[in-house]
Amino acid sequence: MMFKIKLHWQILIALILAVAFGSLFPEAVEYIGWLGDLFLRALKMIIVPLILSSIISGVTGIGNAENLGKLGLKTITYYVSTSMLAIVVGLFLVNIFQPGVGADLGLSKQVEELAGTKRSFGETLLNIVPDNIFGSFLNADMLAIIFFSILFGFFITQVSDKFKNPLTSFFDGMFEVMMKITMFIIKFAPLGIFGIVAKTVAQQSDLIHLIERMGLYMFVVLLALVIHSMITLPLIIKTFGKVSPWKHLRAMTTPLLTAFSTSSSNATLPLTIDAVENNSGVSNKITSFTLPLGATVNMDGTALYECIAAMFIAQAYGVDLSITQQIIVMITALLASIGAAGIPMAGLVTITIILTAVGLPLEGVGLILSVDRILDMCRTTVNVWSDSCGAVVIAKSENETLKIE
Ligand code: ASP
Repeated sequence: MMFKIKLHWQILIALILAVAFGSLFPEAVEYIGWLGDLFLRALKMIIVPLILSSIISGVTGIGNAENLGKLGLKTITYYVSTSMLAIVVGLFLVNIFQPGVGADLGLSKQVEELAGTKRSFGETLLNIVPDNIFGSFLNADMLAIIFFSILFGFFITQVSDKFKNPLTSFFDGMFEVMMKITMFIIKFAPLGIFGIVAKTVAQQSDLIHLIERMGLYMFVVLLALVIHSMITLPLIIKTFGKVSPWKHLRAMTTPLLTAFSTSSSNATLPLTIDAVENNSGVSNKITSFTLPLGATVNMDGTALYECIAAMFIAQAYGVDLSITQQIIVMITALLASIGAAGIPMAGLVTITIILTAVGLPLEGVGLILSVDRILDMCRTTVNVWSDSCGAVVIAKSENETLKIE
């Protein structure tokens, strides 16, 4: 019966039950905590092969070097500029509302213990080029894996058909399978969320105060998401795509609702491609490159979320970040959003890139974990919306005629 209810309702019910369970029976949490651990392990299990196959299959889908270069440049320009716009909105709002200031969460004592484990910002950039790609696979080093996958996908298109064809279908097939596994794991999200949230709630001694602080934090993230998706992106597709944002929004209803329910850009990808092609009228040539790549690297919602979350953690620890450090937060938020796979809670993992770059304790992630799932649903919706807007803008720049003009 439980599995007949729609997934987002199951998750909502699980959240409510978890809050009740965690606060009423904190001692019993040790018996259900494994549900969350298992769920997180399953997610981590698929991240590497999923990102590898999705990017390789996207890049090989383009065909030749000239098209790849042209489309690639336009696509990257769109991805980077919209993500930066999103981050600027996030940074602005988090500085105005200051949701973390005064939040005494009793974690500051851990700051010193972590000092030795940090990677510098320069090192993070350098590590985009892996010295041993198998080492990167083992460590789930996302940026290095993305870099390698783009290179690998591109050079598949440069070899003779004898090798190109089997390699292309191999990675296409692997991507299909990885998406199936992702969807399978997502079915267990309610149980996993129950375990994770119940454990977090049970560990909070001052719950009311926490909810009060988290409420403002959530409000800031949601406000930034609304501004970006309802003002910035519609203005962009209206100005650069000369299409009706409203018509495009209506064309995208199904994938957007799916993104909200599954919290996964990758799981939503087949529906996104279907809607952008059949409802908005973008050609398959554009969607097969921009959308798979976008599902993995273009995450406006995640970018602004990562920026706000990192600033929130800094505020909660009482760390005053300088202008230079805030600029580093912006740049690393972009990198972290690119590095996040299009799967649930990926943004929560890659936020460590930002924390490391500005020297904040990685334990800070524990502060935002409890409300991550709800924010994940919202930011994933914005991620997918931005991918679809990108496909529209790029299609118009290639002089395509769309159904949403
Ligand atoms: N769940 C997001 C997505 O799939 C990524 C994230 O965790 O921010 O787009």
